[in-house]
Amino acid sequence: MSDDEVILEMSMPLDSDGFLRRRCSSCERELKWLAAGDDEDGTEAPDGGFFCPYCGIQAPPGEWLTEAQEENFTAMIQQEVLGPLFKDFGDGLQRSADRSQGFLSVEVTQPEFDEPVDLMEAEDMRRVDFACHPGESIKVLEDWSGPVRCVVCGSLADQPPAD
Ligand SMILES: [Zn+2]
Ligand SMILES: [Zn+2]
Repeated sequence: MSDDEVILEMSMPLDSDGFLRRRCSSCERELKWLAAGDDEDGTEAPDGGFFCPYCGIQAPPGEWLTEAQEENFTAMIQQEVLGPLFKDFGDGLQRSADRSQGFLSVEVTQPEFDEPVDLMEAEDMRRVDFACHPGESIKVLEDWSGPVRCVVCGSLADQPPAD
């Protein structure tokens, strides 16, 4: 690892069943899948990525951020990375200005960044279990009545009995 590397960790809230909200970048519907615990790596993504339970299109694990998660991540990068960069840049200019005996007046204004917020997770969506991957339950939109696919292998789940 180089000294220049910055590691950003964004904690993402889970609902009370341990599900993490995700969003398909193809059909833009939201779902939830079980988040891996702290001491496990979670299910390895299959070749081509996880399957969307709604549209069946695969996407790599990094492409499932919801809009809120994405905005928060951007805000965090601005705060943690761009903010200090602007400050260094400003300080550097100031030092050059000092060396040139103050003939140069420099002011660098740091742009206003959005503050990262604590995301909240709502207790919504309907749980679906899969016979093919029993440990990989997901939650889908309550009003979704179409077929639901396993995010790991893409197999269709048995439909819940109509009530
Ligand atoms: Zn989709
Ligand atoms: Zn499966």
